[in-house]
Amino acid sequence: MSPILKLLDNARKNALDKPDTSLIYATQALELAKETSDPTSEAKALYYMAYACRVKSDYASGLAYAFQSLELFKMNRSPEGMLKAINIIGIIYFYFGAYSEALSYFIKALELIEDIDNPNMESSVYNNIGEIYRMAESYTQAIDYYEKAVLVCEKHEEWHNKAVILLNIGEIHFRKSNYSDAIKAVQTAYEILINSGDPISRGEAETKLGKIYMREGDFEKAETYFTLAYTNLTRINNEFYLVELLIEMASFDEIRDASPLKNLHEALNISIENNFGNKISQIYKALSEFYESEKDFDKALTYYKGYHVKEKENEASNLSKRLEILSLELKYNQMETLAEKLAQDVVDTQKELKALESHNATLMQEVLIDELTRLLNRRGLNRKFSTLFSANTTLKGTVFIIDIDHFKTFNDAYGHLKGDDCLRQLSRILELSLPETAFVGRYGGEEFLCFIPNSDLSKAEAIKTGDHIRKNVIEKMPYTITVSIGLYVGQITHETLDQAIHLADMALYEAKENGRNQVKLST
Ligand code: GH3
Ligand code: MG
Ligand code: MG
Repeated sequence: MSPILKLLDNARKNALDKPDTSLIYATQALELAKETSDPTSEAKALYYMAYACRVKSDYASGLAYAFQSLELFKMNRSPEGMLKAINIIGIIYFYFGAYSEALSYFIKALELIEDIDNPNMESSVYNNIGEIYRMAESYTQAIDYYEKAVLVCEKHEEWHNKAVILLNIGEIHFRKSNYSDAIKAVQTAYEILINSGDPISRGEAETKLGKIYMREGDFEKAETYFTLAYTNLTRINNEFYLVELLIEMASFDEIRDASPLKNLHEALNISIENNFGNKISQIYKALSEFYESEKDFDKALTYYKGYHVKEKENEASNLSKRLEILSLELKYNQMETLAEKLAQDVVDTQKELKALESHNATLMQEVLIDELTRLLNRRGLNRKFSTLFSANTTLKGTVFIIDIDHFKTFNDAYGHLKGDDCLRQLSRILELSLPETAFVGRYGGEEFLCFIPNSDLSKAEAIKTGDHIRKNVIEKMPYTITVSIGLYVGQITHETLDQAIHLADMALYEAKENGRNQVKLST
């Protein structure tokens, strides 16, 4: 074998499970081919480079090599080479999510296949078209193409290809909840794959069997296959399929009322390390749903925000990948306007992303703070009370409910804008009339709640503080208004808080009944 053929053969052998090694051999072959002016080998080397890049998920480089290899195969008048290059272009588009481009290349491949006797390629193209239909959820057409592919494999004893296609058929049956058909297809594939030297597909088959048995309710078998898949995928260190497996295992935990947190966090760590954007957002969403079901709304909200930001990030990075690919197309196929348009899209999305990040930083504040007065809103007050009572089960405190007198008349006389300003000014007066330890929020329209925690206020002192507030309103407000105040003083727990507020409210009602502009203590 000539040195160049040896390099190409090594590139081919390592293509699936050692793409980095394969890429090195192919690159050496490419250099040698250029030196020796051997365009046939040059085209083949570029093809293997494209293949390795696609296994490594480096789609932009993969596409660049594939286009160059297609050009060379064309020049060399090698229909079989062209077919391979066109097929890999379609596959890269597929993995990238550009399904219509992928389909147009697979159809070009179909046209070429008629004149070429290459069953391996023929089954691969049929399978790939099936995959596109599967993504489009046109399951009947998908199965048609998969079955065509299987027939070609059986006729030419291409067992490994057959197994890979059966996995796809199994996936469709699974999605249509035909579990027994799904098991049949995947089990047949699995028997072929056990000794096939393709541990990735084997691990994928075990994961699929696990999830099908899980849905069928056969937990024992599900456990067995998940364990096998875990052992295999960690051994070969295929992190992409490992993450898929861990996500399935987390659902398995939930179905059995166990905590999915260990599996989700393992999946999350691997995904973050490898920058699997789509997986990260999927896991954040699962974590948010889990905490929601546990009624831990704080954590649920945190992960939900993480999910939201990650989704936006993914969108932006998809766009920049798309731009990269389009600039390649521009180089090889002249598509200027489209590329320019996408460049603009990327800029816009990145701007949006920046805005979203800063928005998220203030989101928490916005949620807890009243827009008009910048005091805590009702949610903010509840949160304050939650933190307060999580540290102290019981505490002595004073509740003030403060309500503007005849505010409706004020609005009618001066208009709502002045009314709004009055609420803002009153908020500042309240803040400055209260001790440092107190907090105050807008409880309703023109109603405010103040709380002084851990205060050793006697009832008389509490009334004095209330009266201080009432007088400040009369003396310091730029508008002529008065307020009525209801008070409650006593031992309060988180459970009796609502009752304490209710009692303060009753006292306020008394103050109003009694002529307004006064402080009443709950009796
Ligand atoms: P009372 O002394 O019995 O409390 O009489 P009142 O008129 O203050 O009470 P009522 O509950 O009848 O009316 C409350 C008014 O507060 C009605 C509403 O227009 C006004 N209000 C509530 N929220 C706002 C706001 O955000 N801005 C303005 N300008 N007015 C508000
Ligand atoms: Mg009022
Ligand atoms: Mg009111």
